[in-house]
Amino acid sequence: MKKKLVLIGNGMAGVNAVEQLLKLAPNQYEITIFGSEPHPNYNRILLSSVLAGDANINDIMINDWSWYEAVSDNHLTLPTNRRVCDTQLGT
Ligand SMILES: Cc1cc2nc3c(=O)[nH]c(=O)nc-3n(C[C@H](O)[C@H](O)[C@H](O)COP(=O)(O)OP(=O)(O)OC[C@H]3O[C@@H](n4cnc5c(N)ncnc54)[C@H](O)[C@@H]3O)c2cc1C
Repeated sequence: MKKKLVLIGNGMAGVNAVEQLLKLAPNQYEITIFGSEPHPNYNRILLSSVLAGDANINDIMINDWSWYEAVSDNHLTLPTNRRVCDTQLGT
């Protein structure tokens, strides 16, 4: 039975950690990433260029939707627009 792994926040650092984990220990975790934003994982450092109108969100994607689909064998799911609150964590 797979261990459950929950990542709160679909940002660069956290998703990179998941990427490394999938390389080191594939198929060992059932992973859920809660992202408060509607997008898959993008390079926030480059967000300024999107806000300036020099690029669009697709230009700064690190892992687009196809990556999440490709790793779904690891039972990875990404609920978007879902901000995890303290009360949900029972704190
Ligand atoms: C406009 C802009 C320009 C920047 N430019 C630079 C730059 O030039 N150079 C530089 O070094 N850095 C820059 N930064 C900072 C850089 O983007 C951050 O240091 C970096 O993104 C941090 O990465 P992270 O993965 O730790 O967190 P983040 O990229 O902040 O990712 C965290 C994610 O978690 C989500 N989240 C947080 N709380 C919850 C919750 N409770 N439930 C669900 N989801 C949650 C957030 O919505 C976010 O998507 C910039 C930031 C911005 C906003």
